[in-house]
Amino acid sequence: MRYFSTRNKNKLVSFKEAVMEGLASDGGLFMPEEIPSFPNSFIENLESISFEEIGFETAKKFAGDEISDEKLREIISKSLFFPAPVVELDESIGILELFHGPTLAFKDFGAQFMARTMGYFVQGSEKELNILVATSGDTGSAVANGFYEVEGINVFILYPSGKVSAIQEKQLTTLGKNITALEIQGTFDDCQDLVKKAFVDRALNEKLNLSSANSINIARLIPQSFYYINAFKQVAKKNKKVVVSVPSGNLGNITAGLMAHKMGLPVDMFIAATNSNDVFTNYLSSGKYEPRKSVQTYSNAMDVGNPSNFERIQNIYGVVEAMNKEIFSVSHNDESTVDGIKEVFEKYNYIIDPHGSVGYLALKKFLSNHNKKEYFGVNVETAHPAKFKDIIESTLGKEIEIPERLKECINREKKSIVLDNKFDTLKNFLLSL
Ligand SMILES: *Cc1c(COP(=O)(O)O)cnc(C)c1O
Repeated sequence: MRYFSTRNKNKLVSFKEAVMEGLASDGGLFMPEEIPSFPNSFIENLESISFEEIGFETAKKFAGDEISDEKLREIISKSLFFPAPVVELDESIGILELFHGPTLAFKDFGAQFMARTMGYFVQGSEKELNILVATSGDTGSAVANGFYEVEGINVFILYPSGKVSAIQEKQLTTLGKNITALEIQGTFDDCQDLVKKAFVDRALNEKLNLSSANSINIARLIPQSFYYINAFKQVAKKNKKVVVSVPSGNLGNITAGLMAHKMGLPVDMFIAATNSNDVFTNYLSSGKYEPRKSVQTYSNAMDVGNPSNFERIQNIYGVVEAMNKEIFSVSHNDESTVDGIKEVFEKYNYIIDPHGSVGYLALKKFLSNHNKKEYFGVNVETAHPAKFKDIIESTLGKEIEIPERLKECINREKKSIVLDNKFDTLKNFLLSL
């Protein structure tokens, strides 16, 4: 399989190049030359196919012959060490729980697979690979966990000092080994600027093999399509039309679902559930794409004003009319988000996080517009509610339990290297390695 840039269809690269470069040199995003498709028998027999096997069969189509079957199976089996169950709330709604990974959010699926795939491609090269990531919290911890102990790769996580939550900081700073936390005295934007400058600095690039583990990497989308297929498998026997609601920010997660759909997954409709950052929702109704500055909400991982994967969705569908046939979108504000958390708890005794609440509300809206009996709605729960303890506890008036794997890192010792926000400081630090 070859990959093109969304900004230049004529420049084709291999899977390895697409993964190792992350972003195309023209600023575009890599897409497969042709979205592969499953044979009918694969979908018909889904019930007897394991999550790992789904992962292998899907990834194989994207990796082509650049990774041997044996190696690819190993990558998949080491990446999919946690489940993605659909928990049924009632006869028409289920929750796809994507928070069973090490950092309690769906980004673990992408990070685990990307890390092992990059680890494979870096083997045999003379220089170690150094990954720089700027984070405002969640992406950094998923990436750090994914790359932990991957041979031949060092990860430097730049985070703004005092501006990530206590739990997030522990997730970033307690791993050690090949993961180094750089605590920057500045803002998230400073961290992002420093990383961008490092990638174009000649002296640094001559000495070090630098790369990013950005959310736009195609290697993060591929494993995200596995759990949509695996979720469909879990609800297929209901013989209803399946609709999937995805709490969306940069639109990476829903893009993975749309790709699975193009591969042949018979989902009837995808829902892009947005918070007050509703640029994509507005685009679907007006046909005008008008990015703007993001606003802060309770579902903060969706606070995106110019979703990066919009380019990929546009590439898949071409025109807005085509998108509207397969994607429904609606936005909900913080007030509704809180009501959603309450409703799901009172009605189903299930604690949903603020992102999942936005998804639930959008799904409910879709079902109320359609004949509910004909549909089964899967709402994607992107993070564990314990990550948003304060909002949940003040909304429900009860304490929520923190999962063991999170407790464990809270008790470990923080290790970070404090740097100011000047580029020369970072540069000298990296050159001294
Ligand atoms: C990243 C994230 C999202 C948004 O996903 P996109 O792929 O950016 O649309 C939603 N919920 C949570 C908890 C996240 O971490």
